Amino acid sequence: MQIIHTITEIRQVVAELKQPEKQIGLVPTMGNLHHGHLQLVKMALVESDIVICSIFVNPLQFGEGEDYEQYPRTLGDDTQKLEEAGCHIVFAPSVDEMYPNLSCGRDQSQVTVPDISNILEGAARPGHFAGVATVVAKLFNMVQPDKAVFGAKDYQQLQVIKRVVTELCFPVKILSHPIVREENGLAMSSRNGYLSDEQKEQASALYATLQRLKRQIKEHGSYDPKFYAQIEQEAISQLNSQGFVTDYLAIRSTDLSSLTEKVHNMVILLTAYLGNIRLLDNMEISLSS
Ligand code: AMP
Repeated sequence: MQIIHTITEIRQVVAELKQPEKQIGLVPTMGNLHHGHLQLVKMALVESDIVICSIFVNPLQFGEGEDYEQYPRTLGDDTQKLEEAGCHIVFAPSVDEMYPNLSCGRDQSQVTVPDISNILEGAARPGHFAGVATVVAKLFNMVQPDKAVFGAKDYQQLQVIKRVVTELCFPVKILSHPIVREENGLAMSSRNGYLSDEQKEQASALYATLQRLKRQIKEHGSYDPKFYAQIEQEAISQLNSQGFVTDYLAIRSTDLSSLTEKVHNMVILLTAYLGNIRLLDNMEISLSS
C-alpha cells in the first residue's frame, strides 16, 4: 500500500494507473478509522479495481468552538487498518498542501450548494457543508476517481455531495454505504471515542428512539404529518428527560424537504448532545414496504 502526501504525487500515481478498464474508487475520510470506515473501503474494493482512501481532517468544515484541534489524528493506526483491509493507496495531505491560501491568511474559493446547506445540520453548523463540498470537489479533482463511497450515516452530507456531482458535472459515481452500528445500535463514529463506556450504553437510546418512531409511523399506516409532528415532540421530550440535549429531530421527505406533499419515503434525522459530544443518526422509512 502506498502512502502519498502531495497533490503532485497522487496525480502522477493516478495518471500511471488510469486505464479505461480500471476503475478507481475513492473513500474520503477524516481518519481515526473504525469498522464503519473499513466497510466503505470493502465496498470500494468490490466496486472498483484500485481503492484510494483519503485521510484529511478538513479545517473548512469545522465551525468556531468545534473540535477541530482535538479531533483524533491517528495516521499510523489508520494506515495499518487500511493495509489489512486491502486498500491500495492512502492519500493524506497536510493542511498546507490542501489549502495553501489559508496558511497565508488569504481566502479560499469554496463550493456552496444552496438551500440544502442551510437546513438541519447546515443550520446547526453554518458553513459546514461549504467546507465539505469544497474538500470533496478538491479531492475529486486531485484523485479523478470513477467512483466514490460515502456513508449513509451523514445523510445530508450525501445529498450535498450528490448535488455537487450533478450540478458541477463531476464524472464520478457516488455510492452510499448503509450505517454501520455497534452491537447496541449506536452508529459508529470517530467521535464515539470521546464517550465513556457508560455514555456509550446511554447513547444507544438514539437508535432505540429511531426504531420506535419508525414502528409508530408504520403502525399508524397512512401518511399523516400532524401525527409525525406529535411523535417528533414526544421523542424529543423523552430523549431530553434521558439526559440528552436534542439539537434536532425531524421527520422529512428523503430529499429533506418538509412534509408538505404526500410522500411514501421518509427519513428521520436526529442529532443530540450527550454531555458536550454531538451524536448524529438517521433512519429511512418507507410507507409502502
Ligand atoms: P468521517 O471520517 O467521519 O468524515 O467519515 C468518512 C466517511 O465514512 C463518510 O462518508 C461517513 O458518512 C462514513 N461513515 C462514518 N461512520 C460511518 C458509519 N457508522 N456507517 C457508515 N458510514 C460511516
